[in-house]
Amino acid sequence: MDAPRDVVDVHVHVQPWEQISSSARSTLEGDMDDVQRLLRFQREPAAFAAHLREHGIRRVGLVNYVAPDTMGFGPSCNDWVARYRDHDPETFFAWGGIHPGVTPDVRSEMVRLLDELRLDGIKVHPPHQGFAANAYLDGTLPALREVYAACEERDVPVMVHTGTSIFPGARSRLGDPMHADDVAVDFPELRIVLAHCGRPLWYEHAFFVARRHPNVYLDLSGIPPRQLPERLPRLPMLAGKVLWGTDWPSPGVRDLRRNVETFWALPFPEDFRRSVLVDAPDRFLTRGPRR
Ligand SMILES: [Zn+2]
Repeated sequence: MDAPRDVVDVHVHVQPWEQISSSARSTLEGDMDDVQRLLRFQREPAAFAAHLREHGIRRVGLVNYVAPDTMGFGPSCNDWVARYRDHDPETFFAWGGIHPGVTPDVRSEMVRLLDELRLDGIKVHPPHQGFAANAYLDGTLPALREVYAACEERDVPVMVHTGTSIFPGARSRLGDPMHADDVAVDFPELRIVLAHCGRPLWYEHAFFVARRHPNVYLDLSGIPPRQLPERLPRLPMLAGKVLWGTDWPSPGVRDLRRNVETFWALPFPEDFRRSVLVDAPDRFLTRGPRR
């Protein structure tokens, strides 16, 4: 059987390029085949949606977050991604973000993000934002609790970057998935997805946290699919909680479809592969009272 043509990719990056810092931009563009095409997709949601359909991708999560120091993105990236999603909500799912350390009133900003802009999910990026996912616990960032509580209350999922990052200024130590274990303990109804499964240092930590908590999921983005059977051999045990993602167009991820085909050829059971590419991510992005 051929690879599905109705793939759901929870993790791609279409972002407002006018905000990106020059160092982050050169890290990204240095590895990109076609920068002009990406710029066009940033301006024209319909062109990107057509490109996705050509590649057998039905739905994507657009990852944006506030990280002024490392990436350059400020709070208005949220307005940007919400507008982008509104062009075609069937195709686009809007991940936005907040930096509780530089936001004067976190509670009211969460109301704006979730109730006014109706963001579909919140991305937390510890290595780029400079705080651990559990930084509300030790008093360094108490307001982070408000972020999780607001999402839990509305059944809005949170994506936590886990694993290292090669962007200038990123603090990779903060990418350990074990920090999200605390979040899952303290917010048991919150749906959490561990992006990148802690790659490349903490695969076992990510697997443990996802296995332990019913509401913790994994996304496979940013991991060369070929490496999965060796790095995460027990992945099929978590069927239903393993979500397809590519991290396109990040360094090393050239083509949305090629990664799907490579994944489809892996020696995992076919029903599991289908669940990863279509059913589990579709359910994850759809569930919740707000849609
Ligand atoms: Zn990413």
